[in-house]
Amino acid sequence: MATRNEIEQIKDRLNIVDVVGRYVTLKKAGTNLRALCPFHNEKTPSFMVNPELNIFKCFGCGESGDVFAFVQKIEGLEFGEALEQLAGQAGVALTNDIKAPSTGKIKERELFTDLNSFVAGLYEYLLWQSPVGEPARAYLRERGIGEAIAKQFRLGYVPDRWDTVVKTLAEKGYTLSTAEKLGLVIRSDRQDGYYDRFRDRLMFPIFDPQDKVVGFSGRTLKKEFEGGKYINSPDSDIYHKGQILYAYNFAKHQARLSEELILVEGNLDVIQLHQAGEQNVVAPLGTALTSEQM
Ligand SMILES: [Zn+2]
Repeated sequence: MATRNEIEQIKDRLNIVDVVGRYVTLKKAGTNLRALCPFHNEKTPSFMVNPELNIFKCFGCGESGDVFAFVQKIEGLEFGEALEQLAGQAGVALTNDIKAPSTGKIKERELFTDLNSFVAGLYEYLLWQSPVGEPARAYLRERGIGEAIAKQFRLGYVPDRWDTVVKTLAEKGYTLSTAEKLGLVIRSDRQDGYYDRFRDRLMFPIFDPQDKVVGFSGRTLKKEFEGGKYINSPDSDIYHKGQILYAYNFAKHQARLSEELILVEGNLDVIQLHQAGEQNVVAPLGTALTSEQM
């Protein structure tokens, strides 16, 4: 399994606030953070996270524990499974890691979702850390979308250039043909050339139910624009737009509790509603709903 030291290392590296914050909206309450409990149905929040002690406790239903207990409970996992999942997120290698070797397909899927996650990180950097992101930050302010919720949804920005992703991936040694398979870049007519699919757009990573980035949706910030207001990644080996709902990964727990999943039209509407505490809201990707989404 893992040594005590490794378990402590995982707890140190993964702040319980970040992990819990992926499932519920936490609000500051003194030194603690408060949320509606994901484990029982309630109208006023009695679920507390203590970042100093790295624990959570619900004063309504009594659930409590550390980050492992939280993930076990919310994902319905055995301790070993939660341990593996969190070790992966914390970048801690476990001793006696005897899990079955990944098959080719799983490896490939990991490669794809890792690449997407890397690109999501690039877009996030450009939104929050770079001067080019200011128009997008202004747009989010205008729409009343706070930084905390924007970061939970890993929003990003890509400037009006043809080579933002192309150049960064080339510098990092990623093969652009993989990025092409994911629809991040498009092959140009010139030999071996690629250009970015998404340009000058607010970027929304699309997550699968396990929080892996499987695609992107990009919204133009222009008032006058050609083409669609939103463009989405094309279907790929890991993304089939008819099978995935935007924000389902964030909505699934609340939806299970309230036995209701609410569908709205746009990604931004979803985020605004989640920010307002309506956490069972999702949006379809593309126009028509398919039977698989229903
Ligand atoms: Zn509770």
